[in-house]
Amino acid sequence: MKLFYSTRKLVSWRQSESGSVGFVPTMGALHDGHLALMRESMQNNDFTIVSIFVNPKQFNRQEDFDNYPNTLKTDLKKLQEIGVSAVFVPTMEEVYPTEDTYKTAKPGAFAIGFEGDFRPGHFEGVVNVVDRLFYWTNPNQVYFGQKDLQQCLVISDLIKEKYKDIRFNWIPTERESDGLAMSSRNKRLSENGKHIGQQIYANLFKCAEQEGVKAALDNCRNSIVSSGIDVEYLDIIHWNDMPVEPKTGRAIVFAGYLEGVRLIDNIIL
Ligand code: AMP
Repeated sequence: MKLFYSTRKLVSWRQSESGSVGFVPTMGALHDGHLALMRESMQNNDFTIVSIFVNPKQFNRQEDFDNYPNTLKTDLKKLQEIGVSAVFVPTMEEVYPTEDTYKTAKPGAFAIGFEGDFRPGHFEGVVNVVDRLFYWTNPNQVYFGQKDLQQCLVISDLIKEKYKDIRFNWIPTERESDGLAMSSRNKRLSENGKHIGQQIYANLFKCAEQEGVKAALDNCRNSIVSSGIDVEYLDIIHWNDMPVEPKTGRAIVFAGYLEGVRLIDNIIL
C-alpha cells in the first residue's frame, strides 16, 4: 500500500499508473461503512485510492471540528488489511496552500435546504475539498455513502458540471445490528446513547412503511424526541435528474443531536 502525504508525489504516482482508478474520500476514523465503499471500488477498479483529511472548511462549528475523532494509526492498519492501493493523507498546507491559486467549483442547487440550512458553508467546504481531491487523484469512478444523501446529490451535480468522465457511485448505508447508521461521530456516544440512537432508524423505517405521509412524519418526530433526541429536521427530500438510479426520488431525511453529537440518517422511499 502506497502512503502519500504530498500532493506532488500522489499526482506523479497516479500519472504513472494506467489502469482504472476508484477513489474514496474520507475524514478517517474508519468504520465498516467506509470499508464497504472501498470494497466496492476494489471490485470494480484496478487501483483504489483512499484519502483521509479532516477538512476544516466543511465544519460550521469549531467544537465539532476540534472533537472529530482521529484514529490514523488504526485507519492505516485497516486499509492495509483490506488491500487498497494508495492512501493520501495530506497536511492542511498541501490542500490549502498559503498561495492558493486553485479555482474551486461552487455547490449547485442541491446544497440548498436541510444540511445546507443547518450547517451554513458546509457544502461550499465539501465541494472545495472534493474538487481538489478529484483533480489530484483523477479517478475513473468515485464512491460515496448514501448516509450523506444530500452530499451525494451535491457531488453528483459537481461531476455533471466539471468531471463528466467520472462515474459516480453511491453505496447503501451500513448499520449496526440495531439499525444505528455507522458514523465516525458514534465514537463519542455513551453505551446508553448508542442504545437510544437505534430509535432513529426504527422510526424512519416505520414512517417509510407509510410512505412518509404527514401524520407518519409527525409520529416519527414525536417518538424520536421522546427517546431523548433533539430533532433538527425530519422531512421529505425530493430530487430529480440524478445521474444514478433512482433518477427521480424521495427520501425521508433526519438530523438531530444526541448527547451533544450530531447524527444524520435517511431512508429512500
Ligand atoms: P466521512 O469520513 O464521514 O466524510 O465519510 C466518508 C464517506 O463514507 C462518505 O461518502 C460517507 O457518506 C460514507 N459513509 C459514512 N458513513 C457511512 C455508512 N454508515 N455507510 C456507508 N457509507 C458511509
